[in-house]
Amino acid sequence: MGTRALVTGAGGFIGHHLERHLVRNGYTVRGVDVKDPEYEPSHAPEFELLDLRRMDHALIATRGVDEIYHLAADMGGIGYITAFHADIARNNALININVLEAARLNGAKRLLFSSSACIYPQYLQNIAEVSPLKEENAYPADPEEGYGWEKLFMEKLCRYYREDHGLETRIVRFHNVYGPLGTFQGGREKAPAAICRKVAVTRDGDEVEIWGDGAQTRSFMYVDDCVEGIYRIMRSAYHEPLNLGTDELVTIDQLVDLVARVAGKDIRKRHDLAKPQGVRGRNSDNTKLRQVLGWEPQVPLAQGLIPTYRWIESELIKDGRIPQRVAARGQGASAVPT
Ligand code: NAD
Repeated sequence: MGTRALVTGAGGFIGHHLERHLVRNGYTVRGVDVKDPEYEPSHAPEFELLDLRRMDHALIATRGVDEIYHLAADMGGIGYITAFHADIARNNALININVLEAARLNGAKRLLFSSSACIYPQYLQNIAEVSPLKEENAYPADPEEGYGWEKLFMEKLCRYYREDHGLETRIVRFHNVYGPLGTFQGGREKAPAAICRKVAVTRDGDEVEIWGDGAQTRSFMYVDDCVEGIYRIMRSAYHEPLNLGTDELVTIDQLVDLVARVAGKDIRKRHDLAKPQGVRGRNSDNTKLRQVLGWEPQVPLAQGLIPTYRWIESELIKDGRIPQRVAARGQGASAVPT
């Protein structure tokens, strides 16, 4: 039997892709989540429905594994994480403390924690032409309320468990991940998926609503790069926090234009300034990532949006929300989601 791995949050977007990657690489994988994967069955031979806010469930989840890829979290896009500070902080604190302690009690060797760019200080992100964020910029701390504070605390806990208990921990700060099989409706979706959905349901020449003035900036990482990065970081000897993202900075308006091009539509933008837009600008500095791994995410945004848009469009067609013939135009119309 090869390496035995647990993926928490395996019913979610990144966890589901990661599970497939590990299975393909010969791992014996157990997936755990409070829900089944939404869009296709789990790839793991074992998939268990467990609530990691409960210690007894965390102990069941972590039994008999060598490596833990801890991705479970109560999270969503900017609308969601700014609306529910208390629930998000409480749920994630319980999940994280339980998984870490259960990993120790069950003798797991390594644990990788999915942190976030939301841990970076808001005072460094108040202009659109932002300097890329370096790992050491995290302190003095001023993270995103709720979600960001909890992630930052868990980063510290990982360090304490490594120092005091010898549990090898890896801490990865994801920057905006997108791709097929991610949430695209219901309130937890993030900007790329929300924009793909809005463009897909809008007729050629019509208007889409954009949150904020569209000049806010971000970088976006395709999910295959995210999974490859996770795999490489777990294998590395580096245990300090590490960015995992691209440094291809775009405005939200540019993101909309790229999606419209994939869709083959002329889209007009209506900016809603009353909607939350998060920090003004955010980018990843990948200097340390390149030093540690000799690798960084590869997929340009314009390329990754093709399978992402096509997949969301196909889901909307399946739901009867857009007609088939509207869907047949645009760039990469035959691209198959990965
Ligand atoms: P996701 O919401 O699709 O997946 C998270 C999964 O955790 C969900 O399936 C959810 O049901 C599960 N979960 C929630 N509460 C649980 C509980 N009590 N017990 C067991 N499972 C529970 O999110 P994702 O985009 O796949 O994100 C994965 C991880 O990466 C999260 O920790 C997230 O904070 C982090 N992250 C993601 C991004 C991104 O852009 N997607 C950016 C930064 C960090």
